[in-house]
Amino acid sequence: MSAEVISGKDMAVAIREEIKERVAGLKESGLTPGLAVVLLGEDPASQVYVRSKNKAATEGGIYSRQITLPEDTSEAELLGLVSGLNADPEIHGILVQLPLPEHIDEAEVLSAIDPAKDVDGFHPMNVGRLASGDPDAPAPCTPAGVIAMLLRSGNDPAGKHCVVVGRSNIVGRPMAALLLRKGPGGNATVTVAHSRTPDLGAVTREADILIVAIGQPDLIRGDMVKPGAVVIDVGINRVDDDTRERGYRLTGDVAYDEVKEVASAISPVPGGVGPMTIAMLLSNTVDAAVRSTAAE
Ligand code: NAP
Repeated sequence: MSAEVISGKDMAVAIREEIKERVAGLKESGLTPGLAVVLLGEDPASQVYVRSKNKAATEGGIYSRQITLPEDTSEAELLGLVSGLNADPEIHGILVQLPLPEHIDEAEVLSAIDPAKDVDGFHPMNVGRLASGDPDAPAPCTPAGVIAMLLRSGNDPAGKHCVVVGRSNIVGRPMAALLLRKGPGGNATVTVAHSRTPDLGAVTREADILIVAIGQPDLIRGDMVKPGAVVIDVGINRVDDDTRERGYRLTGDVAYDEVKEVASAISPVPGGVGPMTIAMLLSNTVDAAVRSTAAE
């Protein structure tokens, strides 16, 4: 049996079309959602992410402002910029691309973003709201993308045993919080595993839905998955590949060819969670814009 492929790429196209229509409607009533994406330095991966986010926003009809600052920008300058964006009525969503250079205190910057414009959901207030089950807390984009993939592929996590591998603030922890939330996309029984989990396979084999966000290529093998489980691979790893012109290929944390023979459904890398993350960023921006008018 070969698993059904959960194509985040196709779903993201559909979601972005829905967003485009929503934005067109908002524009007719005089509201243009605006997103500011801030990048410090010239990290090539971050540049690619920021460019795709801006392009996707523009294609969706969202006003998009990309702000690129030199690597040696001071923390005070960055905080000043954030404060300006907080006060800017054209901007409803602010995203500061992580990681930030070492001389900048990431927590300080994330805390400076107006929680109402925090489309990444990383402000401590929003993290707390999500952790305490607030249904209106903005959901961090990557785990929100995973929930959307599960729901749209007919794999509602409600009542299922979901195992999340990874406990980062960006993916694992908010993923677990979303799955636990009462309401659509939640109501799961959740286990979180990490690098100190002694027998990882024993835990992952318990999963009806297995969500993996580790950052190590092919760590999850076929014998670590329960037959018929649904597997979502969040990992994005670069592995050397001389057959490719660029010298590498992207792969997930799940040994795809093995696991697809055991699982009932699986998301690929690339073309899985990545495109959904961007779609969720646009969705969070539009939600923030709509909320801003309700708050006036
Ligand atoms: P991270 O901050 O490095 O966290 C990795 C997590 O995996 C940690 O909790 C770590 O455990 C756990 N881990 C590491 N080795 C392990 C092992 N051998 N067994 C079990 N758990 C292990 O990474 P992240 O930011 O969450 O990202 C994870 C992956 O997702 C990366 O490949 C990243 O590129 C990808 N990602 C993709 C998207 C997307 O849009 N698709 C977005 C974000 C991230 P400890 O806590 O014990 O160290």
